[in-house]
Amino acid sequence: MYRDLFPILDQQVYGHPLVYLDNAATTQKPRQVVETMNTYYLSQNSNIHRGTHYLAEQATERYEAVRRQVQRFIGAAHSHEIIFTRGTTESINLVAASFGQRYLHEGDEVVVSEMEHHSNIVPWQLACQRQGATLRVLPFDERGVLRLDRLEPLLNEHTRLVAVGHVSNTLGTVNPVRDIVDCAHRHGVPVLVDGAQAIAHMAVDVQALDCDFYCFSAHKMYGPMGVGVLYGRERWLEEMPPYQGGGEMIKEVRFEGTSFNELPFKFEAGTPAVAEVLGLGSAIDFMLQAGVGTIARHEQELLSYASSQLKQIDGLHIYGTAPDKTAVISFLAGTAHPYDTGTLLDKLGIAVRTGHHCTQPVMDHYGIPGTVRASFAIYNTRDEVDALVSALRRIAPMLM
Ligand code: PMP
Repeated sequence: MYRDLFPILDQQVYGHPLVYLDNAATTQKPRQVVETMNTYYLSQNSNIHRGTHYLAEQATERYEAVRRQVQRFIGAAHSHEIIFTRGTTESINLVAASFGQRYLHEGDEVVVSEMEHHSNIVPWQLACQRQGATLRVLPFDERGVLRLDRLEPLLNEHTRLVAVGHVSNTLGTVNPVRDIVDCAHRHGVPVLVDGAQAIAHMAVDVQALDCDFYCFSAHKMYGPMGVGVLYGRERWLEEMPPYQGGGEMIKEVRFEGTSFNELPFKFEAGTPAVAEVLGLGSAIDFMLQAGVGTIARHEQELLSYASSQLKQIDGLHIYGTAPDKTAVISFLAGTAHPYDTGTLLDKLGIAVRTGHHCTQPVMDHYGIPGTVRASFAIYNTRDEVDALVSALRRIAPMLM
C-alpha cells in the first residue's frame, strides 16, 4: 500500500529488491513530507514569531497551525500544551530536567519500567543523581508483559513520577497505559508516557489516557528527523521552570533578572526547526489520509502473518509474545549472534536492526546480547514477509 509515495523503497540492494523492515528505528518519508519541506525552504523560509514582514507572518502562521494540528491529532485540551522539541529524547530530558528541578528532592523516587528505551531511563538516572532521588523499576514477565501487580507496591509517599513506554521498541508490547495512570493517580503520582513507538501505529488520545506527559518523534511517524513533541498537562507546564534559556522563551530580560514567556514559548528557546515542524504537519496529514485505523489493521495483519511464518523456522526464537503487540518482532536464529544474522539478511536486501535496541535491561532480562528486529509500517507487504522468511531459511544452514 502507498508504495508509490515512497520512492526510496523502489531500489535494489546488493542486487536484491530492498525490503525495509527497520521502521521502529525510523520510517521512510512520503513524497508530500519532503515536498512540504522543500517548498518551505525554496519559497517560504523566514524566522518565525519576531518578524513583521509577509514571509515571517506566513511562516509563523504555518508553524502555529501545526501546533493546533498536533493538538487535535493527540486530543490535547489546549494547543499551548504542545511543545516542539528535537524528538522523544529531548522531550523526556526536558521533563527530567525541569520537572526534576521543581519536584524531585532528596529521598524521592521515580518509577520506570524494565522495558524502557535508554531515553526513558538515563535522563531519570541523571535527574535522580542531581536531586538525591532513587530510581525504582517495574518488571515484566517472560512474555514481555509488565507486572502490573507490582506497580502499586512501588508507589509510596516519596514517588514523584512514573515514566513508562506506551509501546516497547524491542518487544512490541502495548502497555496498559490507562491502567498505569489510574493506579499512579490514585497515589497522586503523575505519569510520563514515551509514545515514540505508539504514535505511528494506533490512535493516541492523551485525555483518554489521562497521562500528564506524552512524548514522540516525527521521524518514527513518516515525518522528518530533528523534531518531536512534548505534550504536557497545562498545570504541570505552568509550574515547571524553563529548560533552556534564550530568545523567544522570555518576556523581559534585565541584568537584574528575567521574566519568562507564556506557554508554550517558555519551553521553546531559540529558532526552532520550522521546516521540520511543517514536515511533521504533512506527516500527520499522510497518516490521517491513510487512516490510523487502516494503518493499524494492515500492520496487525502483517504481524500475525510474519509471526506464524517465523515460528515455523526451526531454532528461531521470538522474544516478546504479549497478547497486545504492535508489528515489531524480535528474534534470534539458533545460537547465532544477531549481528551475523542481520549482516547476512542485509546481503539479501533485507534491512533489519540488530543489537540491544537501546534496551540493555531487556537483553539482561533474557540473558542475551541482543536480538534481530523486524518492524513493519503501512507500506510493507506480505511478499516482504515471505522474502524475510525465505532469506532466513536460506541462511539458516550458515547460522544454526
Ligand atoms: N523511546 C523509544 C521507545 C524509542 O523507540 C526511541 C527511538 N528508538 C526513543 C525513545 C528515542 O527517540 P529519538 O531517538 O527519536 O529521540
